[in-house]
Amino acid sequence: MERAELLRLDRAHVWHPCTQEKDHELLPPIPIARGEGVWLIDVDGKRYLDGVSSWWVNLFGHNHPRLNRALIEQAGKVSHHIFAGFTHEPAVELAANLCAKAPGNLSKVFFADNGSSAIEAALKMSFQYWQQCGQPHKSRFLSLSEAYHGETLGALSVGGCELYRDVYRPILLEGFQAQGPDCFRCPYGLRRDDCAAECFASLEALAEAHHQEIAAIIVEPLIQAAAGMRIYPPIYLKKLRQLCDRLHIHYIADEIAVGFGRTGKMFANEHAGVAPDLLCLSKGITGGYLPLSVVLTTEEIYQAFYDDFPTLKAFLHSHSYTGNALACALAVEVQKIFTEEGILAQLPAKMAQFDAAAARFTALDHVGEFRRCGMVAAIEMVKRKEGRIGYPWQERRGYQVYQQALLRGALLRPLGNVIYFMPPLTISTVELDLLLDIAYDALRDATSP
Ligand SMILES: *Cc1c(COP(=O)(O)O)cnc(C)c1O
Repeated sequence: MERAELLRLDRAHVWHPCTQEKDHELLPPIPIARGEGVWLIDVDGKRYLDGVSSWWVNLFGHNHPRLNRALIEQAGKVSHHIFAGFTHEPAVELAANLCAKAPGNLSKVFFADNGSSAIEAALKMSFQYWQQCGQPHKSRFLSLSEAYHGETLGALSVGGCELYRDVYRPILLEGFQAQGPDCFRCPYGLRRDDCAAECFASLEALAEAHHQEIAAIIVEPLIQAAAGMRIYPPIYLKKLRQLCDRLHIHYIADEIAVGFGRTGKMFANEHAGVAPDLLCLSKGITGGYLPLSVVLTTEEIYQAFYDDFPTLKAFLHSHSYTGNALACALAVEVQKIFTEEGILAQLPAKMAQFDAAAARFTALDHVGEFRRCGMVAAIEMVKRKEGRIGYPWQERRGYQVYQQALLRGALLRPLGNVIYFMPPLTISTVELDLLLDIAYDALRDATSP
């Protein structure tokens, strides 16, 4: 299809995600023809370095030979079949593999088909657990301001990004929201490298006041991603684990964005040496090929649902594509690639490359902070460094950086005033240098008055 015809039909019939469609009048969507490693290539052959792993899903690049092969091989056997009453090798192998690698003693895997669905399942599991363990008052969830756990109503209810949530408030579940960590504008005037997560006090106070009503506390470990890659220290998670133990509250870890190596370790909770009661994973799980998500949980939670059928204790939750065989086969291959190609061991050199670039960025007039956690780095743009005054959102500085970067051949999709890098883990040092250079130029131009 010709570019013009493709865009005409897109305009006529397609509604894109998280987009003001009117923006497409000036900047139409870019029609991609194929991918190659970290590159997306449009129908005219223009190349874009995928600096955000296509919304945080891609781990090892596009059009990956091993993942392609795994997909085709599985398609030649069976692509999908009902997962109630039936099972298959890729799902079993994946479940065993994830339980072996996950922190703590998470030993059971429930399958769903996207991140939000995993959150819904985890919330329902926690709620039902307490119903079936003689604590029916534990029916609410505690979450953090600026949190992001997905867009379905349950997930949105525990979210804290007002931009995504405000309009739906009348139809959301009621819960408790604590003040989340904000290290860039730390209210205690401390630094994330050597503080003791003093800001944990907000969550602690709420949990202590309402623990009899609280089923679970849900957080994004180490990075509140959609909030603008807000990075906070592992000690926060240590305190959280202790608090949950003390008050008999489940800890739900949403590692949908930060799992699978993004923080430099397989799972973010490893940095704190703690394990959640429910662990939600998705995004990178299939290397960015197909939708799949899982909730890992403990034997103890599983056992609260395990009984004779007439007790009606089962977890009667399902999605049509639960345990999709193609997706599971990809996820198994992803785990093999991690091990056989030593992916995690290659990351420190690239993290150092980010750190080496930090000073260059922070020297710019409108960069308030350059922060990094593992292979995720973020730049906080400010109108004025003094007082850390942000740009008014109406100026859409981030969107300007996005446009500038596209012209120069990189995909950087900012979150408000934050430009971030979350490239495929396999990005080469040459490609990473290029990405940083493009970001620097784009940022300089978008912030020069
Ligand atoms: C993306 C994301 C989700 C939602 O996943 P979807 O697959 O988009 O529904 C939930 N939590 C976090 C932390 C995420 O980054």
